[in-house]
Amino acid sequence: MPYDIKEYKMYIGGQWVDAASGKTYESLCPGDNEVHAILPLGDKKDVDRAVEAARDAFDNTEWALPYNFPERAKLLRAAAAKIRDNLDYLAELESKDGGKTITESTLIDVHHTADCFDFYADLAGSFGGDVIRAPGEWFDFTLREPLGVCGAVVAWNFPIMYTGWKMAPALAMGNTCVFKPAQVTSCTALGIAKICDEVGFPPGTINVVSGPGSKVGSAIAAHMDVDKISFTGSTEVGRKILELSAGNIKKTTLELGGKSPNIVFDDADINDAVSGTMTGIFFNAGQVCIAGSRLFVQEGIYDQFLEQLISRTKNIVVGHPLDWDARMGAISSPDQMETIMKYIEIGKKEATLACGGRRIDKGELAKGNFIEPTIFTDITPDKTIFKEEIFGPVLAVIKFSSEEEVIAMANDTIYGLASGVWTNDLKRAFRVIHALKAGTVWVNNYSMLTPQTTHGGYKQSGYGKDLGKYAIEGYTQIKNVYLDTRLGELIAIFE
Ligand code: NAP
Ligand code: MG
Repeated sequence: MPYDIKEYKMYIGGQWVDAASGKTYESLCPGDNEVHAILPLGDKKDVDRAVEAARDAFDNTEWALPYNFPERAKLLRAAAAKIRDNLDYLAELESKDGGKTITESTLIDVHHTADCFDFYADLAGSFGGDVIRAPGEWFDFTLREPLGVCGAVVAWNFPIMYTGWKMAPALAMGNTCVFKPAQVTSCTALGIAKICDEVGFPPGTINVVSGPGSKVGSAIAAHMDVDKISFTGSTEVGRKILELSAGNIKKTTLELGGKSPNIVFDDADINDAVSGTMTGIFFNAGQVCIAGSRLFVQEGIYDQFLEQLISRTKNIVVGHPLDWDARMGAISSPDQMETIMKYIEIGKKEATLACGGRRIDKGELAKGNFIEPTIFTDITPDKTIFKEEIFGPVLAVIKFSSEEEVIAMANDTIYGLASGVWTNDLKRAFRVIHALKAGTVWVNNYSMLTPQTTHGGYKQSGYGKDLGKYAIEGYTQIKNVYLDTRLGELIAIFE
């Protein structure tokens, strides 16, 4: 459908500005590839402006001072409330821009974002330091201090949620931030900046620069005056971010790719496990870093499980992101759709296609980027689609016999982001929890994430945490203070 095209500006130093170059780009709705927004095409110059504003707010205002946390908490809470007040607007914008269903945006993404702002508001005052007992006549304590200017560069799959994951903890701890959304999904990050501006965040504390990763993202990562970068994206670009960050030894948090195992044992509740498996791979059309894209089902229930999984998958209603009846939306860009289709073609040679496998190119959905939910069976772990992250609605299934065998296969990956295990045997659950090399294990669930819980990878899925109290580690540094109490009686080493 044709949209009322909205023109956006970037948010730098409390001002709404065009790109320094004056260039713009169009953002499309993945449901029909119609233009719905025009945004500034930022580059290094805009990053320089944003970093300067963020630096000034951090160094020269009261923002970062320890006693200012009630003000920071108040602003975060006000933003959370205003995000909820604008639920319908933000959810529609998120779906239009990124392709996820309006149901997902409305019921999950926007609420989760507001909840993050509230959660970190609560934590703003609760991270002090420790008093250290040390052998000597001094008093020793630590102070937890903000890092300074925190950059964030994020992927296109959960655009609004990443503002809650990255901005909220950074701001709560007294940092200032320069946020770069993915180019194809920048609208809601600018929407959050507008809300933050309206509730009164001081100029420079939040800056949002739109534009391509190759220019804006790399400029943030390389900037000598950015103290930290939190990156969510592919392992490949994560490696580049690390190299670029080396110049000033930036602190880094890397939330990278995944190829997560989901393991169903014979004694699991089959109905629940099928539901969880489907959420794990088809939520957000599979464009989820934690997607349970490698499914292992034990031989005793394999046939029954697969029959139910395939028949329920065939019933998934794929539809336009703004269609309330749709349960799976669009792939966020034609490029990503092409990548997924290439993997599906490879899969057809490597395995048996059990369902799906086609681009939907007929009827109303033909203009958009839609792929059928797809399941491959009869595959071995050495195959491409079982090893590489596809980032789409494509599941590969293996039948296994023993716990030992499945653990070895589950861990045989460069990634370690998440994992799932379905069993009613508590002893087995604990054995598997310990054996899996992944940052998250869900037991009898898949995909649950809340602001209170935490998220982050093992191995090449990265390091550092988003969400929960652990994220605070990534936005603070520890200062140790020795306060000598022997006034006038210090033991001299040098006479
Ligand atoms: P991506 O290509 O790595 O891009 C991520 C971000 O980096 C985007 O903002 C992108 O900008 C920017 N970027 C690209 N090239 C850059 C460069 N040379 N220097 C600096 N920044 C650069 O990833 P994606 O395709 O958006 O997202 C999919 C990947 O992200 C998957 O691997 C997925 O697993 C991972 N992911 C991980 C998590 C997690 O929490 N672990 C969450 C979500 C996604 P533009 O796109 O605007 O050009
Ligand atoms: Mg878009």
